[in-house]
Amino acid sequence: MLTNDQLAAWDRDNFCHPSTHLGQFARGEAPQRIITGGKGVFIEDRDGNRFLDAFAGLYCVNVGYGRTEISDAIAEQARELAYYHAYAGHGSEASITLAKMVLDRAPDHMSKVYFGLSGSDANETNIKLIWYYNNILGRPAKKKIISRWRGYHGSGLMTGSLTGLELFHKKFDLPLSQVIHTEAPYYFRRPDPAMSEAAFTAHCVAELEALIAREGADTIAAFIGEPVLGTGGLVPPPEGYWPAIQAVLKQHDILLIADEVVTGFGRLGTMFGSDHYGMTPDFITIAKGLTSAYAPLSGSIISDRVWQVLEQGTDENGVMGHGWTYSAHPIGAAAGVANLRLIDTLGLVDNAGHVGALLTERMRAAIGDHPNVGEVRGEGMLCAVELVEDRAARRFLDPVGQMSGKVVAAMHRNGVIARAMPQGDIIGFAPPLCLDADEADQIVAVTARAITETF
Ligand code: PLP
Repeated sequence: MLTNDQLAAWDRDNFCHPSTHLGQFARGEAPQRIITGGKGVFIEDRDGNRFLDAFAGLYCVNVGYGRTEISDAIAEQARELAYYHAYAGHGSEASITLAKMVLDRAPDHMSKVYFGLSGSDANETNIKLIWYYNNILGRPAKKKIISRWRGYHGSGLMTGSLTGLELFHKKFDLPLSQVIHTEAPYYFRRPDPAMSEAAFTAHCVAELEALIAREGADTIAAFIGEPVLGTGGLVPPPEGYWPAIQAVLKQHDILLIADEVVTGFGRLGTMFGSDHYGMTPDFITIAKGLTSAYAPLSGSIISDRVWQVLEQGTDENGVMGHGWTYSAHPIGAAAGVANLRLIDTLGLVDNAGHVGALLTERMRAAIGDHPNVGEVRGEGMLCAVELVEDRAARRFLDPVGQMSGKVVAAMHRNGVIARAMPQGDIIGFAPPLCLDADEADQIVAVTARAITETF
């Protein structure tokens, strides 16, 4: 077996890690953490340290670690048929079964699912299909996509452009010109502290209407949004936001993509975030919770009205030229089938709603009055603590991001993993959906202690 020192050296010398400070890592100034195992909500590192993973990896290990129902299904699929492609009408029993299971759970007006590998490629698929759709309808100018500042939709060329976080644009020459951004529905950072939630919603709607008027509705194809802003700060929308936004989109014949990579399959206490907020999207992006990250798989769920046009398109133009070698990979699909069954059997959607509410409530009770806690917010099994310089004066921290990093490091020393969200001073929690009340209490206690130690 390799020693820890050998592994650390190989890691520094060979491995380009995603979303990492490359210089610090190469110089040995950043942490190197080698994770070896996990069970339930806990993971273990190579030194035998055990952590409660209050971010479920990257909010994806929704059923928790070490589920043999899924690993057995993967092993069996790999033995029987590790791979065959899905082009030109091919498939596997697993991929066909999973498509049916996804549609059975999706809102009624959804019609088909296109499988990819990652949330990013699923959003690329959505945009390509939307452009195809408008070309078939004879509207070649209707192509721009509206996204929100602070939205996160991936880090490819198009999806990195849709993402509304500076970190993902800076020095990459993004965003691309087809993408335009509008106001983030971030009530805590509203422009005027006196604004009610309803007034802030009206402000977001007015901003959207102004953008559409400036650009011209006949140039705008779609609006993409996460039901709850995720990587941008775990921000539930203000009161009445989604119905009001949807009314505007409908009026201008602009399609809606609900990016449910985080919220899909139970995280908000409903199967989809669209159910939670009464959204009727034309596309739903799914990934993480589809397999609980036991294997990479994503999907674009397509509404019936869009599907009809896509069919018409291939009748007119022949085969739709869009596919990945690994679309609907049988091993990912087998993981997805076992995962969705497990979510049902264990009642994880209800558990996420119930224990998630408890986590946010207890977090608020424990630290909500701390002078450096600006807000504790949450929805389902998502919770965030936003740190400030001075709550009473609504003064934000400057420089940004340092205190959340320190709090998260203190939590790590005390056995709980939370995430310092990439923009702002926000500590994020998105535990596996199987979290129980005692584990929620452990997260709260370690967070409270870390905040007290840090400030
Ligand atoms: N969309 C949302 C809402 C996400 O949170 C993410 C990833 O965190 C993505 C898309 C991109 O998914 P992936 O990292 O699998 O490409």
